[in-house]
Amino acid sequence: MPKFVYAFAEGSKDMKDVLGGKGANLAEMTNLGLPVPPGFIITTEACRTYLEQGHEPAELAGQVDEHLAALQDAMGKRLGDAADPLLVSVRSGAAASMPGMMETVLNVGLNDESVPGLARMADDERFAWDSYRRLIQMFGKTVLDIDGEHFHDAFEAVKRERGTDSDLDLDAVDLRRVVDAFKGVVAEHAGREFPQDPREQLDLTVRAVFQSWNSPRAITYRRQEQIPGDLGTAVSVVAMVFGNLGPDSGTGVAFTRDPATGAQGIYGDYLANAQGEDVVAGIRNTLPLAELEQLDPESYRRLLEIMATLERHYRDLCDIEFTIERGRLWMLQTRIGKRTAAAAFVVACQFVDEGLIGLDEALRRVTGGQLAQLMFPRFDADAAKDPLTVGMNASPGAATGAVVFDSAAAVSRAAAGERVILVRRETNPDDLHGMIAAQGVLTSHGGRTSHAAVVARGMGKTCVCGAEELDIDVAARRLVGPGGVEVAEGDMLSIDGSTGEVFLGEVPVVDSPVVEYFEGVLGPDDEAADELIRAVHRIMTHADARRRLGVRANADTDADAARARRFGAEGIGLCRTEHMFLGERREHVERLVLAETDDERSAALDELLPLQRADFIALFSAMDGLPVTIRLLDPPLHEFLPDLTELSVRVALAEERGEPDAKDVALLAAVRRLNEHNPMFGLRGVRLGILVPGLFGMQVRAIAQAVAQLRRDGADVQPEIMIPLVGAVQELQTVAEETNAVLADESRRSEVPLDALIGTMIELPRAALTAGQIAEAAHFFSFGTNDLTQTTWGFSRDDVEGSFFSRYLERGIFGISPFETIDADGVGRLVRLAVDEGRASRPDLKLGICGEHGGDPASVHFFHDAGLDYVSCSPFRVPVARLEAGRAAVADV
Ligand code: PEP
Ligand code: MG
Repeated sequence: MPKFVYAFAEGSKDMKDVLGGKGANLAEMTNLGLPVPPGFIITTEACRTYLEQGHEPAELAGQVDEHLAALQDAMGKRLGDAADPLLVSVRSGAAASMPGMMETVLNVGLNDESVPGLARMADDERFAWDSYRRLIQMFGKTVLDIDGEHFHDAFEAVKRERGTDSDLDLDAVDLRRVVDAFKGVVAEHAGREFPQDPREQLDLTVRAVFQSWNSPRAITYRRQEQIPGDLGTAVSVVAMVFGNLGPDSGTGVAFTRDPATGAQGIYGDYLANAQGEDVVAGIRNTLPLAELEQLDPESYRRLLEIMATLERHYRDLCDIEFTIERGRLWMLQTRIGKRTAAAAFVVACQFVDEGLIGLDEALRRVTGGQLAQLMFPRFDADAAKDPLTVGMNASPGAATGAVVFDSAAAVSRAAAGERVILVRRETNPDDLHGMIAAQGVLTSHGGRTSHAAVVARGMGKTCVCGAEELDIDVAARRLVGPGGVEVAEGDMLSIDGSTGEVFLGEVPVVDSPVVEYFEGVLGPDDEAADELIRAVHRIMTHADARRRLGVRANADTDADAARARRFGAEGIGLCRTEHMFLGERREHVERLVLAETDDERSAALDELLPLQRADFIALFSAMDGLPVTIRLLDPPLHEFLPDLTELSVRVALAEERGEPDAKDVALLAAVRRLNEHNPMFGLRGVRLGILVPGLFGMQVRAIAQAVAQLRRDGADVQPEIMIPLVGAVQELQTVAEETNAVLADESRRSEVPLDALIGTMIELPRAALTAGQIAEAAHFFSFGTNDLTQTTWGFSRDDVEGSFFSRYLERGIFGISPFETIDADGVGRLVRLAVDEGRASRPDLKLGICGEHGGDPASVHFFHDAGLDYVSCSPFRVPVARLEAGRAAVADV
């Protein structure tokens, strides 16, 4: 027979799945010998069965009978006994914490007959009537679904008649009238009398708790917190103890340490002469817990003792709820306390110092998400209220500045020393200079993998994207927000990339000392370093010692590379050379595209060569002694040319004026020729290298010359040349042949040995499926999981998030965008396959990942498991990746 009910003594903290978090911890505290009122727990399985079948499992009633009998014996009281009734609380509690999402009813068991008995036993008539009115009110709302307003109104009416607005002024006679009024509310709104049979009260309440698993707010909360919808809640039934029995009674909540900073001490609130929900509801002002020392020194001492016991036992910060009934302390709940990101680091190290946990465990207790939070400047919480709108939180941070609507304005205002926010419908490579100049980027279109988001994240720049309520009119230089609020160029705006909030005006920000630490400006031993910096340093040091994954950075400039290195990057995993073809260099690309003869083409490439060489010298110098992966040109050439529509208009207008521009006409023909319906699947990557003679050769030559020069100067340069978008080994072989020839040629000329690894990105399913063949021609693979996700799912990475993804997320088709966290079952399967088959054909194949997933905590764990050598991510995410790689290494030790 399935066991649906457990006595506290039968459970433990490790039985959360069965008993829920609350029940499991009540059981644990009971077994620790702490003062917990007796009770029992109905399992999550009983709830699941109820929800599946629509009625309680047949065995439940009998098992409840048994445990109720034991509870009555333990208390020496009986449910429904008119002379001395046993009352119980009935509380929900799932395996995962869902604070306030499900139901609780107190004082179950009380009825018309037993109120006088309770009054006599407590020697307090007021208390008995107050307990009864609370039961009817909670039962009415929770079990009978009556709107709480009706009870509130009835209560207020009695208070009004009494000429008071405080509950405390009501005496027993008044509360008896409240009870009568409440019974009237039940009769009127539930179409039945308040049930007098205590067992019926109990059974109906348990059922209501089961049902509250599927209340709309519980469903919403689970979706947001990614808690599975089929776990069900347990129900704990506990003998009531009363904090509302006079001044020597009370109730409180406490943390064993400060959950905001991790500082040790007494953090909590106490409310004398009150029941649990009064504290949370904030009806009356609570006292700081420390004041309990004066009110009830004995209970206070005992409470401190218990907190110490709990911390030693759980080896973690705990939060508790307790009640004092006439000088006697009772523990009603404990659990591992939620904490801020800063406290997570500080507290973990405190527990190490106290000898309760080791550094591995400390590492397990902090997350990359928490570290990321600590790294970004934040808006001062008191000042950041009432956002204008909320978009997608694309790249964290808090940025404030004057609104600008294009790159030119961003650059010129920034040059004049102004802070600016670049506001666009969406961004494209043309906006790069503006993005660099701006404090933050705000778009009304596109999702978390849109151009704005990816580039901003790469630069560690704050970005809110897809703020669709904003109507952005670039030509008129203004935007219109909800309610017709207008923002003109130059007006101040503040954007929070961690929450997606957009505020009017300037919200003050506070800087992150944790970034100063990673920058090397603030050392852990400096006087200015606080406990948080020392804790971050200690845990990061341990993560580095433990991790097996290397961590590199995606960086295209020496400045980014240098920062990445300070942040702990062990090389560059992806230099996107296309970012070096923008600005003034576009002209050369235009010339390359327009070239009609070999000579013209060579001339264009010759112009680019020294520029590229200088780029690479800067990059290699910044990463002296570490590997640098340079990816040859990837995007379609038309991205460097003017927009087709704009150019067509320009040419047409010029012709109309009778002043045709020959260069524009030629350019338009080229743009038309290169125009593609699906550019992402078109002439890009390796295809470009094969089709445009000399293009990849020029890039390789620039790399070779940079390496030769630096090596001659004694530098330790470790170049890795990477070919994008390969789908067949023959493509790679074709390019590798040309690459090797150029390397050999430059080596001969410079008399410097020019060895370089040649590898490929794996970003097409065919590449993954034929990885064994491709590895024969590649020294390394780097998984381009942005494109691999796009090509595996058939999702356009630039469009989906603004389009149907929100519905997919709402419907639970996936819990998180596959562009954010690697889709382990699909894309991840291709990764594993390519790892296995690649290594089988070349055992020393180097394996990395350089898509956006490289800095995503959950994905880092996946890549650790898949056995990659390194992850590569934007410089700002390097510390997060280091931490998560360390956590992955200790996850199952
Ligand atoms: C990728 O596709 O994952 C990748 C890193 O390349 P890009 O984002 O530049 O296409
Ligand atoms: Mg790619």
